[in-house]
Amino acid sequence: MRVLVIEDERRLAENVARSLKENAAWAVDVALDGENGLHLAESVNYDLIVLDLMLPKMDGLELLRRYRKQGHKTPVLVLTARDEKGSVVTLLNAGADDYLAKPFDLGEFLARAKALVRRAKGQPTPLLVVADLEVNTIERSVRRAGRDITLTPMEYRVLEYLAHRPRAVVSKTELLEHLYDYNWEKFSNVIEVYISGLRRKIDDGAPVKLIRTLRGQGYALRVEEGRR
Ligand code: CA
Repeated sequence: MRVLVIEDERRLAENVARSLKENAAWAVDVALDGENGLHLAESVNYDLIVLDLMLPKMDGLELLRRYRKQGHKTPVLVLTARDEKGSVVTLLNAGADDYLAKPFDLGEFLARAKALVRRAKGQPTPLLVVADLEVNTIERSVRRAGRDITLTPMEYRVLEYLAHRPRAVVSKTELLEHLYDYNWEKFSNVIEVYISGLRRKIDDGAPVKLIRTLRGQGYALRVEEGRR
């Protein structure tokens, strides 16, 4: 997953970004003002946007309205200061999906962030299940047919993204865009490496293969047709 954090308090932005990277294994971009934030939000297909309200150049509410007016559906989690609580109704009506009043607990922030991403992708719980494969997004652990599988951090990122959208075909470009922050193009050759690592660890020796490569289209996590 890839998250955009729009927050002008540099320390808070860094803390939030670090906790998303370390505890959720997500890629994070940071914008320190509203104009830059809107520009990034419009140019990258993020999985979540974390938006501060009081921002230089363009405030968060204005940014949110413009972003939603263009039809973007990415979930937005708004960070409010205590004295902005009265505007919660305005925020939700403007298209915010959730909000958190500062100061907040990073654990609660992470849980809300994960819930928003999950819901946006149609997954009701943190345990993602595809056939006999289980991806636990809280523990970041993976099991197949009851057997624990140890993945590298990047293999896990790839698998988590695919498992949020089981059966969908995900192109290599989409994977790259959602797994890395700035400069993702330079990683374009490594996706195959992660996929083959996943295939070896998850599918080798299993009667049913789950990691699918669709030539010229991308990858999917699903039971092969006809072998259900
Ligand atoms: Ca601020």
